[in-house]
Amino acid sequence: RVKASGKNGYRFFTPDMNICYTKRISLENELRQAIPNSEFELFYQPQVSINGASIIGLEALIRWRHPTHGLLNPGDFIELAEETGMIGTITDWVLAEACRQLAHWRSMGFSDLRIAVNVSPKEFERDDMVEQLSRFMSTFQLPPDSLEVEITEKILLRDTPSVINKMKTLRERGIRISIDDFGTCYSSLNYLRQFPISTIKIDQSFVRDLSEEHRISPIIQAIIGIANGFGLHLLAEGVETHCQMQTLHALGCNEMQGYLFSRPAPAEQIEQMLCHTISHTTLQSPDFLTHP
Ligand code: C2E
Ligand code: MG
Ligand code: MG
Ligand code: MG
Repeated sequence: RVKASGKNGYRFFTPDMNICYTKRISLENELRQAIPNSEFELFYQPQVSINGASIIGLEALIRWRHPTHGLLNPGDFIELAEETGMIGTITDWVLAEACRQLAHWRSMGFSDLRIAVNVSPKEFERDDMVEQLSRFMSTFQLPPDSLEVEITEKILLRDTPSVINKMKTLRERGIRISIDDFGTCYSSLNYLRQFPISTIKIDQSFVRDLSEEHRISPIIQAIIGIANGFGLHLLAEGVETHCQMQTLHALGCNEMQGYLFSRPAPAEQIEQMLCHTISHTTLQSPDFLTHP
């Protein structure tokens, strides 16, 4: 809205908006320097199997060690990266770094470990997406099923031949695809038949709804039914309490991710966790996975 500014006539920005704009410009410039200055880092959050009481995978979650603002979460900069087109370079960095780290861990003996990476809708639509991924995976000699690409339902809304072809190519090469934040966006479930999906991740908002008195969420029950019906893997995200874990387990969901097991953490901490977990695989309770 055009604002009156007294004697100078009209201007578009109030002083507040100017501060905002200035901040944005400087964040944008800093973001441009983040890769040359090596300020990005991947944190990893374990995905655990309750049955096997083991770490089956790790989700890579980007962090930015900003020179003055400290550790920033993706919520603070991914949108800006998307708007400015810098997301392309960032995605390439994330993919390469995740592959490098996974190859390192697999070479240490964690040979069944897989990694999940988040890919923004626009990035997924990039022409060279599949080739780029394949390139990194062959550079680091990773088997295709050691990588899972997480996309959101939003991308399926586009329902373009290019999206479905890309998904098919990924699946043909053996790379897994999971639907992140499942249940929050797309209202038609028909796409589950159309698109080659491996896993659905129950959004944390539904997990949060599992109350302390073991109330069963009809949405979670429905999602579990859908996963079983379509023969899809299922993983619940945002599991924070024992009660939520037990309820999900009782309902038949065995794979989970959340603060109950571990917060996302830097690679060195995850490595200690991996070593600890492997040497204690005989433990019956998944409690040992809990990060102090
Ligand atoms: P997401 O992929 O759905 O990741 C799950 C988010 O929930 C993460 O936030 C994680 O730290 C948080 N979380 C995990 N367990 C719990 C829990 O028990 N309770 C609660 N309350 N939260 C939990 P984070 O790391 O801030 O990432 C936010 C989003 O940013 C991600 O959501 C993902 O969509 C996006 N993102 C992260 N890394 C990347 C990346 O490398 N590239 C792109 N394009 N997007 C990314
Ligand atoms: Mg994700
Ligand atoms: Mg999610
Ligand atoms: Mg999310």
